Amino acid sequence: MRKMKLEDRISSRYVFLFFVLMLSSYIGVFSLLKYQRNQVINNEMAIKSKEIDEFFKKIEDYSEKYPSLTLEFTPILDGQKVVYSRPFNPGEEGFLYLMKIETSIGEINIPLNTVILNNDVSMDQNNQIVLRELEKYSIQSNTNTGGKTLNLVDSFTDNSVMMQVYKITREIKGNYFEVYVLKNLDAEFNIFKSLQILMLAFTVLGGVVIYIVSKYLSKRILKPVNNIIQLAETITTDDLGQRLEETETGDELEKLTKIINQMLNRLENSFNNQSKFVSDASHELRTPLAIIKGYAEIIKKHKLNNEEIFEESIDSIINEADNMKNLVQKLLFLAKGEMHKNNLNYKVQEVSEMIDHIYQDMKISMKHHNFVLETNRKYFIKYDETLLRQAIRALIENAVKYSKEGTTVYISSEQIGNSGIISIRDEGIGIKEEDKDRIFDRFYRVDDSRTKSTGGTGLGLAIVQRISELHGGKIKVESQYNVGTTMYIILPIYKK
Ligand code: ADP
Repeated sequence: MRKMKLEDRISSRYVFLFFVLMLSSYIGVFSLLKYQRNQVINNEMAIKSKEIDEFFKKIEDYSEKYPSLTLEFTPILDGQKVVYSRPFNPGEEGFLYLMKIETSIGEINIPLNTVILNNDVSMDQNNQIVLRELEKYSIQSNTNTGGKTLNLVDSFTDNSVMMQVYKITREIKGNYFEVYVLKNLDAEFNIFKSLQILMLAFTVLGGVVIYIVSKYLSKRILKPVNNIIQLAETITTDDLGQRLEETETGDELEKLTKIINQMLNRLENSFNNQSKFVSDASHELRTPLAIIKGYAEIIKKHKLNNEEIFEESIDSIINEADNMKNLVQKLLFLAKGEMHKNNLNYKVQEVSEMIDHIYQDMKISMKHHNFVLETNRKYFIKYDETLLRQAIRALIENAVKYSKEGTTVYISSEQIGNSGIISIRDEGIGIKEEDKDRIFDRFYRVDDSRTKSTGGTGLGLAIVQRISELHGGKIKVESQYNVGTTMYIILPIYKK
């Protein structure tokens, strides 16, 4: 079952459901028919038993009047004889009777329109056979509802007949009367049988039709899913540009198709970014390596003969190695897979103390610029202190890098609404409008030659942006070319 195709699974479930429904309606219909038939027969039986009661009553009356009693079923009524040829109107409504009388003399079987099980024997023998059959079963006597449905079989001829059987018993003056009242059910059973065959045939046919139709329908419904499968099979990392055809059906499949296309967009973007990152990174690393190699070759050529060149070359190698170390560190930071929200050392803390520390550090370490702590409000956010400190420092370093010596860098931190806003403002060169959106891209530098000389990698702001995002926040820039720049880190306030 588990390895079936989806369409086969759907259709087989429908077929199963159909069978269950058919079976329950089958059981329902037949129980109802049986119940109704029993009701009808029981009602008829009520009339019969009344007739039989009257018959016995008459016998009782006669037996009171006369000392000896002879029962004869011939149409004469006279003297001491109860003559009752057809005491219970046998034959009416298809009822048959068999009466057994046990007297002090012996046992008599009186067929009053009896059941014929065996045609080849005398009526008497036939009655014996029927009686023997009937006596095999315990039938409640003297009740209209205690009838039993029996299949009477003659063991010699294998003839059988379906009968509803009732039993009425009386004792009159030591004579024991047993009347079996039988109703032939053969005709009804034949109708039931035909109905059964019909229903069975209909069930099988219906099952086949439902299987075919539901298979066809599920195939049609599942077509978009199969398209998705086919597309998914053809998508490779070299070809992430393919998209599913979007339908406007408004159903779950349209949703699924859209979600998959969106997912492919994101995958393609992130894959492109990744490859760009790798190619940019290798490009960035190639330059310092080439420089180091160049200086190493110079040293080799001059073989320590020229001290000045040696000094200069070694300095350059150390400088480039430092640049590379810085670059590799940043690259690792951005590329580290485990730099995920869950791996950070988050703490709910107040921020003003950290801002104050950074401000004091900067004042001491960067003597060529002035620093002003404009506002430093107290508010709580949930943050990783090492990372947030790194981000704020990077912004201050940029402010220093891109402004002249002697200018001022303003630091401020305050709560506005539900956000904590840390801003760094400088009086530097500013950023042109067209560059504002791109400065957060990895390796983007506004002016390559100028930023190169300041040791920029183009990764600083990308890292600050990533850190802000990891804290559920964002970074924003406001800048005026040749006037100055303000960078904002906006983080959500911690709410208990
Ligand atoms: P870099 O290592 O080159 O500084 P960043 O990602 O930190 O890389 O910055 C990207 C670019 O944005 C820089 O090359 C610079 O041109 C511009 N930039 C960043 N901060 C400032 C600022 N405070 N003033 C002017 N330009 C800035």
